[in-house]
Amino acid sequence: MKPTLIIGGGIVGLFSAYFLQKEGIEVQVIDQTDMQDNCSTGNAGMITPSHIIPLAAPGMISKGISWMFSSKSPFYIQPRLDYKLAKWCLLFFKATSETQVKKSIPYLNHITLLSKSLYVDFQLEHPESAVALSKKGLMMVYQTEAVEKEEIELAHLAKNYSLEAEVLTPADIRNLEPNLEVKARGAIFFPGDSHLDPGALYSFLRKYLEEKGVKFLPNTQVLGFEKSGNKVNAVLTDKGKIEADKVLLCGGAWSAELAQELGFSLPLMGGKGYSFIQDNQPTISLPTILTERKVAVSPYGSFVRFGGTLEIAGTNQKVNMNRVKGIFESINQYYPDFQAKFPQENQVWKGLRPCSPDGLPYIGFAPGYENVLVGAGHAMLGVTMAPATGKLLAELHQKKKTSMDIQGFEVGRYN
Ligand SMILES: Cc1cc2nc3c(=O)[nH]c(=O)nc-3n(C[C@H](O)[C@H](O)[C@H](O)COP(=O)(O)OP(=O)(O)OC[C@H]3O[C@@H](n4cnc5c(N)ncnc54)[C@H](O)[C@@H]3O)c2cc1C
Repeated sequence: MKPTLIIGGGIVGLFSAYFLQKEGIEVQVIDQTDMQDNCSTGNAGMITPSHIIPLAAPGMISKGISWMFSSKSPFYIQPRLDYKLAKWCLLFFKATSETQVKKSIPYLNHITLLSKSLYVDFQLEHPESAVALSKKGLMMVYQTEAVEKEEIELAHLAKNYSLEAEVLTPADIRNLEPNLEVKARGAIFFPGDSHLDPGALYSFLRKYLEEKGVKFLPNTQVLGFEKSGNKVNAVLTDKGKIEADKVLLCGGAWSAELAQELGFSLPLMGGKGYSFIQDNQPTISLPTILTERKVAVSPYGSFVRFGGTLEIAGTNQKVNMNRVKGIFESINQYYPDFQAKFPQENQVWKGLRPCSPDGLPYIGFAPGYENVLVGAGHAMLGVTMAPATGKLLAELHQKKKTSMDIQGFEVGRYN
């Protein structure tokens, strides 16, 4: 029997392997890198069912345009002559309509809650994993009246989807974050969110899957496919041909290029972001988003990770220290007493979020193929949605009923 090949050993590929091996399927994971560092290893590790609004939301265009003129802004598209970028921007613009956003919200709501429950099961099943899912909730702090209004509206919306959300005063914030001053007008607290160390999760999964017989092929780049009719028979790599029973395309921001090789369109752009670690002095306790700056703060006891910026960058991975400066400067804007030290370039982690134009992932069969599945385009929520994506792909692979309606994630929606 030929194996099922997973192209891409990011968190989506690993959770897909996890659920497939549970079904007794022989799995091989192919990755072009040594699998030590990808978008899934140094992100903020937040599991956020609270994030039900896609990136492409009403108001994003006007905000985006004003941010375009600042090299330290949270969102940036470098203007350049690029057909794929122009097409993606057009589709992104269309997706900011209220109708589209209303359609997307229930899908994001269902998949993030499904994932959350799978993370709880995962932790119970693997107490040895050291992947502590901290259930401290998430605090979205804000400093301006305009953002306060937006965040309170978001809290009401979240409540409509049965998510808990509390509006906090500065005094409430002081109670929750007692060790240092938080300069904020207020905050929304989402008790149902949680966070974990993404690097620890990634290392655990990799080792566990290897022990369970999943074969890893690092430093192997997929260049093309051997097809007949509506099937892929083999994957062509820089190390030779690998025969396949089924193929899962989980290539993160590179998935568009692989889709092109398969003859269909999968609009995707890499949304480059950065993070860096600091000694946690004085100690920040709560996972927090500095909302105006869109900076994520993930505390892990003695250290804390700050992450942010989204630069529509294709697959260019160059570090822009000016944008890192934007994240760095926001630290003392919100935590005036925090002992922040500007990181060296080699201390900065970078990752390409795989961004679809409408903010929904692509999950399902590839158009025109009966043995190719796709799990890509999870943008800012890849860690959050990875277990559910892996489970859904394993269900489709095994021709089982899926755990939720996946129509909104249709892979061929832009063909
Ligand atoms: C600063 C920052 C903070 C973030 N914070 C959070 C957060 O708090 N919560 C959350 O849920 N998400 C967060 N994210 C988003 C999350 O990190 C991503 O959505 C997720 O990691 C994407 O996983 P993936 O498996 O799809 O892609 P990746 O991790 O990029 O993996 C794709 C893999 O495919 C491989 N590949 C691609 N093409 C080929 C090929 N041709 N041949 C072989 N291999 C190939 C690549 O080498 C790569 O290893 C954050 C991202 C950033 C940048």
